[in-house]
Formats: sequence, C-alpha cells, structure tokens
Amino acid sequence: MSQPNATLEDLSIILHEKQGCPICHYGRQAGRKYLDGVMYESVNDFGLRERLVQNMGFCAFHSQEMLTFPGAKLGAAIIEQAMLKEALRRIKATSSGRNSFFSRGSKSESFHAAPDRNTCPACLHEQASERRAIEELLAYWNDDWAGLLEKSGGMCFNHLALALHLAPKATAKSLKQMHERRWREIIAQLDEFIRKQDYRFRHEPISEEEAIASRRSIDILTGEPRGVIQAKLVT
Ligand SMILES: [Zn+2]
Ligand SMILES: [Zn+2]
Repeated sequence: MSQPNATLEDLSIILHEKQGCPICHYGRQAGRKYLDGVMYESVNDFGLRERLVQNMGFCAFHSQEMLTFPGAKLGAAIIEQAMLKEALRRIKATSSGRNSFFSRGSKSESFHAAPDRNTCPACLHEQASERRAIEELLAYWNDDWAGLLEKSGGMCFNHLALALHLAPKATAKSLKQMHERRWREIIAQLDEFIRKQDYRFRHEPISEEEAIASRRSIDILTGEPRGVIQAKLVT
C-alpha cells in the first residue's frame, strides 16, 4: 500500500517487519540516519561541531553507534579529538583540591563525559522524529493502521501517552481500547507464569508467550531496547 509521505511509508514497513513499538523503531532509524549524515556530510560543519563541543558529543549509545558506520573512521576521529580537547580544557580550568571539582567553573559546563537523552543531538533528533511519526499516524489513522499496530503489539507506554495527548477523541478511544486489550493479555500471561512457579503446578508447561511476558512488559514500560549494535565495529 503506497503512503502519502515518507514517514508513513517507513512506518508501514516497520509495522510489517517488526514487533514492538513502531515509534521507538522509527526513532532509532531516524537517529541512525542523522548520525550517518553527520559522519559523511556535517563533520566539518562548524556550527554542529560547536554544539557537540558544548554538549560533550553524543550520548554513550550514539557515540558507540557512530563507530559502526563503514568508513566513519575519519569523521569519528575529528569529532572525538575535538571532544577530548574540550574535556582537557574543562579539567584544566578546574582548580584542584577537595570539593573544588564540582563547585568551581561555569554552571553551564558539565563534567559528565557523555550527554544524556535530553542533550545528545542524535537523541533530540530521534525524539522530534518520533513525535512527527505519531502526528502523521494520527492524521491518517484508519482501520488498516489500527490493525497493523495491534498486530505489532502496540506502542510503548511513553509513546502511547504522547499519542493520547495529541489524538482526537475517537482515535484516542480506539488506541486506549487496543492497548488495554494487549496489556491485559500480558498481565494474564504473567499471572500464569507466576502460578506455574508453584510446586503444585510445576508440571504444567510454560508457553512461549508466558516465558517472554516479563520481557514484553519491560519493552512496553521502557521502550524498545536500543539493542546490541548489529553492524560490525569499524576497526
Ligand atoms: Zn515507543
Ligand atoms: Zn544519543
């Protein structure tokens, strides 16, 4: 089914190919594409470099991901050298002595080596993309999307909360009902799993669904795992 825009096209592919929150998957893809762009086109962009220096680079996850792009060696070296120089400057600007490390220096300068999800430029790009994906999905919401989303297992808690905040009443109602059905199903599977731990019922086999229900709950509550980097590290 062809879609009216690239965001919905990507979402449709994700919903057909992957289980779990499609908004999380979409965000990860967007973050990776953004990093790819930085490595190949923007590594010499002065404005971006300044921003990266101010924030001390990318978060731990995206810093590692940066190394997985084939041919990223030069870009990574340029970025990491600038960061390490900045780290050195910050350490040198700090007076030595007990307690001085955290009490001196400009307030805007952080001594955390890697930024978090709220300051990493790639994470911020992910979050903006995730919101856009939700908005597009809601704008074109119909029974086909509802069916696809239900089959994929639905959204994670945070993305559902954002979708409910942005959705018109009728769509919000359908989203709520779908997720309530799904989450109640997992709660029942966990009930069964817990029951079968009792010695009286231990002979009853645990189904595959019951065995992975804890993992499913975690994914719903914390978002799809960022996972082990699949591509081979560039050496
Ligand atoms: Zn999600
Ligand atoms: Zn990040």
